[in-house]
Amino acid sequence: MVPKNKKMIVFDLDWTLAPSKAEIDSEMAELLVELLKKYKVSVVTGWDYERFDKQIFQFIWDDENILKNFYACPTCGTKMYVYKDWNWTKLYSEDLTEKEVEYILNTLNEAIDTLGLRPEKTYWELVENRGTQITYSALWQQAPLEVKSVFDPDFKKRLKIKEYLDPRLEWFSALVAWTSSIDITREWLDKAYALKKLEKESGIAIGDMLFIGDALMEWWNDFPVLKTWIDALQTKDPEETKKMIRGLVK
Ligand SMILES: [Mg+2]
Repeated sequence: MVPKNKKMIVFDLDWTLAPSKAEIDSEMAELLVELLKKYKVSVVTGWDYERFDKQIFQFIWDDENILKNFYACPTCGTKMYVYKDWNWTKLYSEDLTEKEVEYILNTLNEAIDTLGLRPEKTYWELVENRGTQITYSALWQQAPLEVKSVFDPDFKKRLKIKEYLDPRLEWFSALVAWTSSIDITREWLDKAYALKKLEKESGIAIGDMLFIGDALMEWWNDFPVLKTWIDALQTKDPEETKKMIRGLVK
């Protein structure tokens, strides 16, 4: 049963609203619009803003009265976007400072060279500055999934880099991500952080929010929200999420 006394419904993105990196389908788009008529809605992800454009925004109805209830939280709430004057507008972005970026980039490049993990020839940016996060991509972001999946399936290469980085990047956290990357952010930027930022920006207490995600199991990426004692529901896939949304809008 879905609790109906909530004011805001917070979703994870990948495998909760849509398959990873894929668009929401038309049925999910309609359900989100229905939900936005009754609740504030937020989507929290580790991905950057462009994923919202590609996976969600272009499929939901362009009505300011409804979209004003949407809070988009890319990169775990270190950025937040709301709909204002017919545009998705950035409320804030907690970018790394120039000094922080320089230090992280130097340390990361040093790790790659010291460990002999620099490819002889690259066709992509090995290290990318996403403003609030530095990402190391062992393979090109757009490389086919089959290629990425065989690169480091047992995480050994990336764990070596992480071991090198951890004592040197004390105030940051380096997390092995996706199939061939490492994400470096300021320490403890997880989905619990995003909920605290949402509480501050929306004025809605975490106790009045409901979280729905596919990865609430221990040490998976939705797990940190449980630190905040938010009411949370585990979903199996977007189809199950649709059932939950139907229960909320009914
Ligand atoms: Mg997920």
